[in-house]
Amino acid sequence: MPPVVTRFAPSPTGFLHIGGARTALFNWLYSEHTGGKMLLRIEDTDRERSTEAATAAIIDGLTWLGLTWDGEPISQYARATRHREVAEELVRMGKAYYCYATPAELEEMREKARAEGRPPRYDGRWRDRDPSEAPAGAKGAIRIKAPTEGETIVHDRVQGEVRFPNKDLDDFIILRSDGNPTYMHAVVVDDHDMGVTHIIRGDDHLTNGARQTIIYDAMGWPVPVMAHIPLIHGADGAKLSKRHGALGVDAYRAMGYLPAALRNYLARLGWSHGDDEIMSTEDMVRWFEIEDVNKGAARFDFQKLEALNATHMRRMEDAALFDALITSLPYLPNGADFAAKLDEAAKARLLRAMPGLKERARTLIELTDSAAFLVAERPLQLDEKAAAILDEDSRSMLRHLLPEFQKVGDWSAASTEAVVRTFAETNGLKLGKVAQPLRAALTGKSTSPGVFDVLDVLGRDESLMRIEDQIG
Ligand code: GLU
Repeated sequence: MPPVVTRFAPSPTGFLHIGGARTALFNWLYSEHTGGKMLLRIEDTDRERSTEAATAAIIDGLTWLGLTWDGEPISQYARATRHREVAEELVRMGKAYYCYATPAELEEMREKARAEGRPPRYDGRWRDRDPSEAPAGAKGAIRIKAPTEGETIVHDRVQGEVRFPNKDLDDFIILRSDGNPTYMHAVVVDDHDMGVTHIIRGDDHLTNGARQTIIYDAMGWPVPVMAHIPLIHGADGAKLSKRHGALGVDAYRAMGYLPAALRNYLARLGWSHGDDEIMSTEDMVRWFEIEDVNKGAARFDFQKLEALNATHMRRMEDAALFDALITSLPYLPNGADFAAKLDEAAKARLLRAMPGLKERARTLIELTDSAAFLVAERPLQLDEKAAAILDEDSRSMLRHLLPEFQKVGDWSAASTEAVVRTFAETNGLKLGKVAQPLRAALTGKSTSPGVFDVLDVLGRDESLMRIEDQIG
């Protein structure tokens, strides 16, 4: 077996959306699994709609997701000469021909088909004419001589054997009269020249798979393995829209998801390995087989993604999660403010607090929110609930607690806990009656990691000053 070569072939007309990211992921997983290569081809033949900004966004999205490709990205547009050469070669071989039908004639054909209730189909009027009949000076488009009888079969690794009656596939254009290739033709020439062995893409390209097979056959080239993967639908089963999550990968970064969690989630959208839900990238690479891709449409579910992200965060090493958070801050809505206040002391507190913080947060946004108390400037701004907790009674209680804390020399979660427990007992108070106001004073919030851990990560001086600020 030759080494596997897959490719991701996005059209640079917008950001890298979630469906494209999953296609790229499947290609990447398969190439990694087989020790092969994944190539990146930018399908920029449509000059009107392709932009540099979109290419940059796609590359940025893939990079963030950790999906690597071999060699430089290939521009399809840059290969137009080669596409033209192959089209002309097909004409020489008698497998394609110049068609000089005028726009008016083509419109007439379409009208006729409509009237007869048939799909619009080129009627082959130039198929068997002698080139000498070409109208003088006319350029002509090149059409493939598609078989008219029998079937074209796509042997698809996901969809099975899909048969297309040849009478439904007309002599489609491979080179326009302006000398530019059609998408259908460029893809075949590029995949062949790039040595692509496996085409993994959305099943909206399945019919294209049949048309492309006709070009491969005409050239006598081997048809790569095809795997058309089902599209992603919304949680309600409808076609994926923005509301369902049809967003750019950059939006997922801004929502605070980890690349590893998104990879895991996207892989599970349409592929499974037994009952495994939580998978590391190494697991997925080890297990990924095209045969395990499901045939039915996958449903995108934000809640599942969030739950997976929470698990990946919890399982990450503290230092690695710390690094992931720091690099994500520029993209998070609440990140800039947090980053601005993050001095060295706050960084040390953040790292120490990580075990408690990661237990509660489902996204990096939530992690940033719950870590905000670590970087907050004194005196703390209290949120509404914290302000309500810190009523006159609570403040008075803290005034009595403060001297007990001041006596503690060896500051830790355990020593401060002992102080609070004794204080609560002596004063006939439930532990929560002490802990809640204390938390509000220390964090400005009503929820946080365990209050003794908070005391510990803030340290003695900062803790005492924050309490003083509130009882002043
Ligand atoms: N450029 C096509 C797209 O973005 C993909 C073509 C292919 O994978 O063959 O839908």
